[in-house]
Parts: sequence; C-alpha cells; structure tokens
Amino acid sequence: MPSAERFAALQTIQRRKPAAVTKPSALHEIWADDVFTLARMKEALPRQVFKSLQKTIREGGAIDPSIADSVANAMKDWATSRGALYYSHVFYPLTNLTAEKHDGFITPKSDGRAITAFTGKLLVQGEPDGSSFPNGGLRSTFEARGYTAWDATSPAWLMRTPNGVTLCIPTVFVSWTGEALDKKTPLLRSNAAVNRQAKRVLQLLGETEIAPINSSCGAEQEYFLVDNALMALRPDLQLSGRSLFGAPPAKGQQFDDHYFGAIPERVQVFMQDVEDQLYRLGVPAKTRHNEVAPGQFEIAPVHEAANVATDHQQLIMTVLKSTAKKHGFTCLLHEKPFAGVNGSGKHVNWSIGNSTQGNLLDPGHTPHENMQFLLFCGAVIRGVHQYGPLMRAAIATASNDHRLGANEAPPAIISVYLGSQLEDVFNQIKGGQLKSSATGGMMRLGIDSLPEFPKDAGDRNRTSPFAFTGNRFEFRAVGSGQSVAGPLVVLNTVLADSLAWIADQLEARTAKGESVEKASMAVLQQITQENGNVIFGGDGYSSEWHELAVKERGLENLRTTADALPVLQRPAIRDLFSRHNVLSPVELESRYEVYAEQYCLAIEVEARLAVRIARTQLYPAVSAYLGELAGSLQEQEAIGLNPSKALAQQIAGLNQQLLDRAAALETALGNAPHGAEAHMRHCADQLMVRMGELREAADALEGLVDDTAWPLPTYQEMLFVR
Ligand code: ADP
Ligand code: MG
Repeated sequence: MPSAERFAALQTIQRRKPAAVTKPSALHEIWADDVFTLARMKEALPRQVFKSLQKTIREGGAIDPSIADSVANAMKDWATSRGALYYSHVFYPLTNLTAEKHDGFITPKSDGRAITAFTGKLLVQGEPDGSSFPNGGLRSTFEARGYTAWDATSPAWLMRTPNGVTLCIPTVFVSWTGEALDKKTPLLRSNAAVNRQAKRVLQLLGETEIAPINSSCGAEQEYFLVDNALMALRPDLQLSGRSLFGAPPAKGQQFDDHYFGAIPERVQVFMQDVEDQLYRLGVPAKTRHNEVAPGQFEIAPVHEAANVATDHQQLIMTVLKSTAKKHGFTCLLHEKPFAGVNGSGKHVNWSIGNSTQGNLLDPGHTPHENMQFLLFCGAVIRGVHQYGPLMRAAIATASNDHRLGANEAPPAIISVYLGSQLEDVFNQIKGGQLKSSATGGMMRLGIDSLPEFPKDAGDRNRTSPFAFTGNRFEFRAVGSGQSVAGPLVVLNTVLADSLAWIADQLEARTAKGESVEKASMAVLQQITQENGNVIFGGDGYSSEWHELAVKERGLENLRTTADALPVLQRPAIRDLFSRHNVLSPVELESRYEVYAEQYCLAIEVEARLAVRIARTQLYPAVSAYLGELAGSLQEQEAIGLNPSKALAQQIAGLNQQLLDRAAALETALGNAPHGAEAHMRHCADQLMVRMGELREAADALEGLVDDTAWPLPTYQEMLFVR
C-alpha cells in the first residue's frame, strides 16, 4: 500500500479518461495552414518582390531592403486575417531553449485611433533586451544590446495559445558588435562553408551546373511521459528533469515488451493532438512509436533543410511539452530521467546535397564505381577522425553524460560505422585496388505467399555513435533535450574542412598533369590510411573496444562534459572554426564559458535538491517509520516475544548514512573552485560522486521501509501507470 499522497495520485490517474478524440483532420486541409509558405508569399507579393525574396531564400544572403516593407505588410495582412494581434522575433539562445519577445502590431495615431502596422524594419530587425541571455562574457550589462534579424530561409508561422495568435518570425540573435549570441547564426554560416567547399570538389570532378548545396537533417526525438499527479510528488523530476532518487523496479525493461508495442490509448490521443498541431505548422512529423523503456516514446519528422529542420525540431519540443500538459502528462526531454532504464536520445540524420547533383552521400548500388560518393564519404570519415573530440564536445551536457557510455547508448568514444559493404570498399581503397561492391543478395523468407526482397548491403549497428545508414549519417549520441544546431554546426564544419583539404589535393595533383580519376583515388587512399582508425563495425559497448579504441586506435574517450568541453579551447578547434568563418575565436570562447557554466549549474541545482529531499522528505519519513518499528518491537517484547532488531538497526544505520552523506554533499557544494575548467572538474569528480553515494543510501532505504511511509512515487508507479 503506497503512502496516502501516492495513493491519491494513483486514484487520480485511474479516473483519468483520454481527452476527447477529435477526428483527425484531413492532411491536405491542415497541412502548413499556419505557415507563411512560399506559395502564400507568391500569392500575396508583387512579382518582382517575390522573385527577389525567393532568390534570397534559395541562395542565402541579406534581404533587399527595398522589398522589406512590402513583405512585412503582406505577412502582417496574412497573420491578422488569421487572428494574430502580436508578432514575435523568435531566436535560439545558447540554452537549447527557444526565446520569444512579443510585440503588438498596434500603432497609436495622433488623432486617437490605433491601427495595425508592421514595417520592413520591424520585420527585418528587432532589439530584445539581450542582457538576460547567457553570452559568456561577450557583453557586459552596460552594453547589453542584442539584435535579432530575420532569417528568410525559414518560414514564419503562427503560434496559437489560449491567449491568442502570434506571428512568429525566425531570427538570428547577435550582439551590438555583430557576434553570434545564438545557435542559428553559426548553423547558417556552417552551411555556407559546406556549400563553398563542396562546390569546389564538384567542379574539380567536372560538374558545371551546380545548384547551392545545403545540409539536411531528420531528427528522431525520444521522450518520456509521466502523469502529472505523480510529477507533483517528485520535486526532482519537476526541477531537474530526472529522478535523483528511486530504487529499480522489480520489473524494468527486461521483457522488451514496450518497444514497438501497442501505444496506450491516452498516449495515442496525445500523439494525435501533437501531430495535428505540427502539421498545421508545416512540420512533417511522420513516425511515432513506443521506445525501449516503459513510458518512453518517439516522434520523427521527415528530413528537411538543416536550418528549417532545426527550427522545426525546436517547435516539436515546444509542442510536445505544452500538449502533454493538456493531457495530464509531463513530457520529459531529459536524457536520463530514470536510472537503470534506457535514456532518451535524438538521432540526427544528416546528409548534404542540392537540386542538380542530388544527395551527395547516396552510394548507389555500386559505390566502388561512384567516385563522387566516395570522396564525400571519405571527407566525412576524415572529418570524424580529426575532429571526433569536437563532436563529443558538441553533445556534452550534464544530462547527456548519464546516457553516453551507459551500455544502452552510444559510447563517448566517437567512431564511424560504415556497414559491411562500404567498410569493404574502403578497405579495398586502402589497399590501392578498387574492384567490387558486395551486394546484400535477396532475402528469402521461405513462405511462398510472401515476396522476396533485396537485402540491404549492410546491417545496422545500434552501438555506434555515428553510423552510415544508406544515404546519410546518423549521429546517435546527440541528447534528447538538445538543440540539434550545435551538432549540425560541427558536422557541417568538419565536412567543409575535409572537402577543402580534398579540393586542395586534387588541385595540386591535377595541376601536375594527373588525371582526376587517378588523383581522386590517391586522395582517397591517403584518407583511409591516415583516418581508417576511426572506422569500427564491432560492439561499441564492449570493454574490449574501450581498451582498443584508446590504446591502439588513438581515439579519445572523453567520458564527461568536464573532459569534453575543454576541447573547444584547443588551438586546432579555434583555427577550424575561424578558417571556415563559422565562429570567431571570441565567439567560440564565449560558447565554452556558457556551456561550462550550464554544466555546473545543472549539477549544482541537482545537488542542492538532493540534499533538500534527503533531509526534509526522506529522513523524516524513515525516522517516523523507525519510531513505529521500535514501538512494535517493544510491544512484542512486552508480551515475552524476542523479535529480531536487525531490520530496525539496518534502517537506522542507513538513515544516519543518509544524513551524513547529505552533509558531505552540502559541504562539497560550498567548496566550488574558481575557473571554468576547475569548476567543471569539481562537479564531475566531487558533486556527482557524492550525489551517487547519497542516492545509494536512499535507494537502499526505499527497499526496506514500509511502503506507506515512502513519500516519493516509485519507479514502478512512474514508469508503468498511465
Ligand atoms: P530509422 O529506421 O532510423 O527509424 P527512418 O526511416 O525513420 O529511419 O528515418 C529516420 C530519419 O532520417 C527521418 O527523419 C528521415 O527523414 C531521415 N532521413 C532519411 N534520409 C535522409 C537524408 N538523406 N538526409 C537526412 N535525413 C534523412
Ligand atoms: Mg528510428
């Protein structure tokens, strides 16, 4: 029997009914209904204005100021005709969240009237007070100006809340001196870098017509749903997104009975609501299913241009959270809400391509004959090998550290999985002879009524942090709560860097009279010889790999964020970002400062909370129970029984330990050293360790104390009740 509060929560859940199922709207009726799409712009704008805008959108660059008023007016008319009273420049600060500043369309006139007005200037540029966003020393409070500037390559949309409709305009966020304060600016710059360098390589391969090259992203989002009645009793989940205490349940995910299982009805209704809203926002949500852990689910949109996909990914997180509330759930985007149960990731599927050459990472059926593909794939391999630690740094957060390397998520060692076919092709290249591509053959099911189908030439490998999956790479180590912008910036930049190197090599070799074919082969051979160490097709979870990777392959195992973030301060990384105009040294340094601070803050909040819960909820509950137990023992002795006191002694011992360990954690909290790196080390080596020790005592007590006395909802309740 659970405690009275937990029992009441469970009853609330029992009584819940799924929200009324509205018939799903027909897709064509709602698709992108709340988006100021290209088609709507075309309809609303004078021909010349539309043409100029379309060029900006296709090729990037600044919008022609002479058309801004016209575009702004059309956008306002469309938005107000749909009930919008406000507009908002939406931007993406370094916190992984989405920031908005709302302004009314209203303009008071001197004659006492008020009209709705929206000028080109207001569309193109805004000035939120930027001082409260983390900037890593880029601005001091007395020069806190920050500007937002419209990113025309991502469409504006309407956000509907119970308070009304707001026109949302995606923007970049920069300081008064022009430094990037957000995640979108470097993403756009990294895309431009890939475009520049990929074009060079394609030109060297003899291509003459080359459309702008863009990176694409499809991000699979995993999340947990926990009922709000239980959330209310878990201050840790509310405040830090993860359970700081909680003994493993008798039944976990051992049965593998949740993955792809039937989706519970209440959750289905929630998912449909989410999808409905996303479709209206033009977000192509496609896949939904249960994930591995109980209470865990996934939503995946179809891939889009990386910049748009990134804005859409932020929208997905926002819509998931707000819709969950409506359905009596909390959506947890934390990477590891429950210890001992699978965590949540965000698989970032990534490729580059354009409208003339197509997907540049598509191998076709005979990759060994596809020099263009091999060079681009080789460029990725080289990039990952040279900058694996940077990729690790791009996914380094306090929350993702719980997941990486926890034997259910990709390890913190960054390697590439190519699949057997490509691995074989690259091995042939290494040996200097390229002859064949293995095929997958036909899948024969031995059942006459079922068709045969061609097998993929390579299987999947779930243990790799970075895997080739047919026509794209999948960066699996990205955290579920993260913006995908950072990882995409790194992938684009390291690819651009390798492509630049390849173009340099090809130029030098062909200038000496070598044929392009011969030069390409030589370059590829050099790539495999120098970077082949990063290719790994085996079990990424095994301890042998951890040993081999570091000792023989020379790869780095950066276990925690405290190990990984200092990579951003390496000269080679500074040069990389400067060379490709993605981040200036000052911008990079500021990012290091901000991310380091966020890491420490996250852990310190958890530590303070753990002390609080241990002292004010667990210790008193256990003490009260001990009192009861002691009373019962006394009564038994009074009638001449001789009961064992072992349990009472064990509980008393653990309860004292709980108190002592809370005190030790609190002391450590007060001893934080100065300096970003030392502070991070302190968090990783002191606070995390002591929090773990405190938890150990608490979780042991949970298994011994009367269930009616335990104040926190159990893992069983949180994971299985809905
Ligand atoms: P999985 O089997 O990994 O679940 P899915 O078919 O669900 O694969 O696709 C995962 C994601 O990869 C989707 O968002 C999909 O649109 C995306 N994707 C497919 N092709 C590409 C590509 N060329 N570039 C980027 N993302 C892609
Ligand atoms: Mg998937």
